[in-house]
Formats: sequence, C-alpha cells, structure tokens
Amino acid sequence: MKVSVVVPVYNEQANLDEFCRRVLAVMDGLAGPYELLLVDDGSRDRSLEILKAWAARRPDVVRVLELSRNFGQHPAILAGFRDVTGDVVVTLDADLQNPPEEIPKLLSKVEEGYDVVGGVRISRQDSFARRFASRIVNRVTVAITRMRLTDFGCMLRAYSRDVVDEINRTEEASTFIPALGQSFARNPTEIEVAHAPRTGGESAYSLYRLIRLNFDLMTGFSAVPLQLFGILGTFVALGGIAFGIFLFVRRLIVGAEVEGVFTLFAILFTLLGVAMAGLGIVGEYVGRIYEQVRGRPRFSVRHAWGLRGEPPSSSPAPGSVSTPATGPSPAVRR
Ligand code: UDP
Ligand code: MG
Repeated sequence: MKVSVVVPVYNEQANLDEFCRRVLAVMDGLAGPYELLLVDDGSRDRSLEILKAWAARRPDVVRVLELSRNFGQHPAILAGFRDVTGDVVVTLDADLQNPPEEIPKLLSKVEEGYDVVGGVRISRQDSFARRFASRIVNRVTVAITRMRLTDFGCMLRAYSRDVVDEINRTEEASTFIPALGQSFARNPTEIEVAHAPRTGGESAYSLYRLIRLNFDLMTGFSAVPLQLFGILGTFVALGGIAFGIFLFVRRLIVGAEVEGVFTLFAILFTLLGVAMAGLGIVGEYVGRIYEQVRGRPRFSVRHAWGLRGEPPSSSPAPGSVSTPATGPSPAVRR
C-alpha cells in the first residue's frame, strides 16, 4: 500500500525544516513505499527554496509542486491530488499544528477498510475567538448540510485512491476538501488526533478568509440557506399584508391614527431587511454560477520540480530564484 502525503505550503519557512524532518521520520518508520508531495501555494518567503532543498536531499520520496501564485489551501491540495501516485492519500498542514506522528493512526484505520478517515482535534490549540467561531460554524454547517463531520476544519485526513479520483473529477470552482471527500465516502470514520499551537509564522486565515471559506462550504454543499430565506420571506410578507388589512379595517371603524405611520415604518424596515438578506444569499449562489460559467482553472502549475520522472538535479540549484515561463514540462491543466 503506497501512501502519498499531500501538504499545502504558504509562507511556512519557519516550520518547513522541522516539518519535513518529522514527516520523513514517521514515514520512513512505516517501511512501506510512500511519497511526500509538497505544494508551494505561491509563497513569498523562502519556503520554495527550502522545499527544493528537501527534494534534492530526498529525491526518492520528496516531490515539490510550485503553483504560479497563491490560490488558497484547498486548491493547493487539489493540485497535489492530481499528481499523487499512492493508494492512500493523507493531507495535513505544514505548520505542525497537525502532528505528523498521528499519520500511522489514520493509516491503520484505512487498513481496517475505511475509505475516508477524518481527524477530530482534541484540545484544540487555537485562540478562544477562533475556537468559538469554529464551533458555531461547525454546528450551522452540520445542520444545513446534514453531513456527519465532527471537525470540518481539521485537515489531518486520509482518503482512499477511489475517493481522490472522484474528487479529481469534480469541476467546481470553489470547494472544501473534507466535505467533498465525505460526500464521496462509502465507509467513512473519524478518529481523535492531537493538535499543537502554531510555533512559527502566522495563520494565513483572517476573519474575512474564514467567512469566505464557510460560504464556500454552505453554498457548495446545500441549497438550504436559499430555501430558508425564501420561506421566511414569504411568512414575513404575509404577516405584513395581514397587518396592513388590520390597520385598514381599524381606520374604517376607529379612525385614522398618526402613530400608525411609525408602525408602517417598522414593517417597511423589517421587510426591507428580509429582502436584502435574501438577496445576499441569492447573490452567493449567483456569484458561484458566474464563477462556474467562466470555467476558470482552480489552479495553474508553474513548474513541477522532480515530478513526472524528471530528476530534481536537472532543475536550477536550490537557492537560485527561477521563474521559467515555459519550463521543460510546462504543466498547466485544470
Ligand atoms: N495554506 C495554503 N495557502 C493559503 C493559506 C494556507 O497553502 O492560502 C496552507 C498553510 O501553509 C498551512 C495550511 O494551509 O499548511 C493551513 O493554514 P493555516 O495554518 O494558516 O490555517 P489555520 O491552521 O489557521 O486554520
Ligand atoms: Mg494552522
């Protein structure tokens, strides 16, 4: 059983050496065939140089994929999925928040016959605000998508080849890999994994990017928000009409009341609020349809270092800055 470890890397120079050392130690200890596929997601620091140095040091197992710019964590993993050769694919973060020492636990579950093994972070080492936000997001997402996933944000996961192939066949513009993997799984399971605080560098996720990611998740895997707002909007509108009739009848019997103007203002604002929120949700879907219609690639590879049988030594020496517009194997694919 060959194992492919796929790792998205974005500005992780402070963690990469220790990360590679620890992953390779764990994987070497397993004695089976494996590859470590590191996807450089347009890092602006020395990450790529460090990765290329590791590819030169361990050309038997380390592969580096250099994306042409920053596409985001999930597209970077997808780029890696396209090139994996293993029977099992493990994903984890490069910042050492997912301890590589947990990989054998995932793999033993795969050997038991599970095709997707998800990690659930016990004693999560992130800030309180981040954990609180994640908990709300998890609850809402589970309720909306009806997906049995305990920890959507945990990237320490293992997928069988079949599931990865199916993920590779999707054409969506925006995606969320754990949910996608779960939706293709026949026999998924979850295990508890450790979580470490970030030691070097900083999280690439601002609050804005987290919110964007969650909209990807909600709109990508469910139409419930749209339906919910449709139903809610209908009820509020019907209530507004009923109240209008009541005010009209009251005017005929009791007479006009000046204060009523303010009641109508309140109704107007309520309706306006609902309409605007509804429009926002519709906009989310329309935006995605637009993205889909444009059919833009989700990532583009600038150069494949040491991939596709090309020895890493034939590429420029690690350390030299190289941006070949058309390298020996210009691999740009969807
Ligand atoms: N990452 C990436 N591209 C991005 C942002 C992040 O490849 O645009 C990688 C990053 O290098 C790390 C993983 O995705 O390996 C998780 O990122 P981060 O630690 O910033 O997220 P958090 O742990 O805060 O959720
Ligand atoms: Mg992290």
